[in-house]
Amino acid sequence: MSVTPPRLEIRNLVRRFDGRPVVDNVSLKVMPGQVTCLLGPSGCGKSTTLRMIAGVEMQDEGEIYVDGRLICDTVFRIPPERRHIGLMFQDFALFPHLTVGDNVAFGLSGSKDQKRARVEELLDKVGLKRFIDGFPYLLSGGEQQRVALARALAPRPRIMLMDEPFSGLDNRLRDDIRDQTLEVLKQEDAAVLLVTHEPEEAMRMADEIALMRDGRIVQQGAPYNIYYAPRDKQAVAFFSDIN
Ligand code: ADP
Ligand code: MG
Repeated sequence: MSVTPPRLEIRNLVRRFDGRPVVDNVSLKVMPGQVTCLLGPSGCGKSTTLRMIAGVEMQDEGEIYVDGRLICDTVFRIPPERRHIGLMFQDFALFPHLTVGDNVAFGLSGSKDQKRARVEELLDKVGLKRFIDGFPYLLSGGEQQRVALARALAPRPRIMLMDEPFSGLDNRLRDDIRDQTLEVLKQEDAAVLLVTHEPEEAMRMADEIALMRDGRIVQQGAPYNIYYAPRDKQAVAFFSDIN
């Protein structure tokens, strides 16, 4: 019997700026079909961790694996575009000069028909197929976010990295978009590493939460366990603004 490896595993990742560790020995796994959430206050090292996984920043120590295969350590490095990683960042805007369909097709290879079929499939899943030939400025912020999700998922990444993807959105829209996003991620069988500073978002979306502070993971487990059995006072304080 073979054991399924994690979609993503990072081991003992360290990143220092001016000698100060901002990511300090972080280890983490994301299993297939799961949303793992890296939750912590602003400045604790979440984005730096994601950038190293994406391959746009080098770690000082540690290893990164996708599907059990080493993609990066301190001497070996697969470039970002060959890591099979999808990215969705808050400031990762759509290309304004391309149609919605061409935005989604951007990272795709294959024949024109194959690409069109995949684009239609995804725009259908996010409920925006009617905008396929329109331009991004026609869409609301929430709709643009759904197109960005379709674009990130189009090449069937092995793992999706999402950095505060909903923080630019109106409060009233956010819960709906979170739920729709989860639904699409599930349909696409994606594994996700979601970064957020909002406990509420982690509780709503995560299968597993890793609580991060000052570059370290201080507690890890199912949302229920972290919420009801926080390990220390700072973890309690961090969750106390959920009502
Ligand atoms: P988060 O995403 O959790 O808010 P970041 O990963 O963006 O945190 O930043 C963690 C820390 O690392 C912060 O103190 C930030 O100022 C610092 N930092 C991030 N990038 C750099 C850089 N290129 N040079 C120096 N310091 C940096
Ligand atoms: Mg950040």
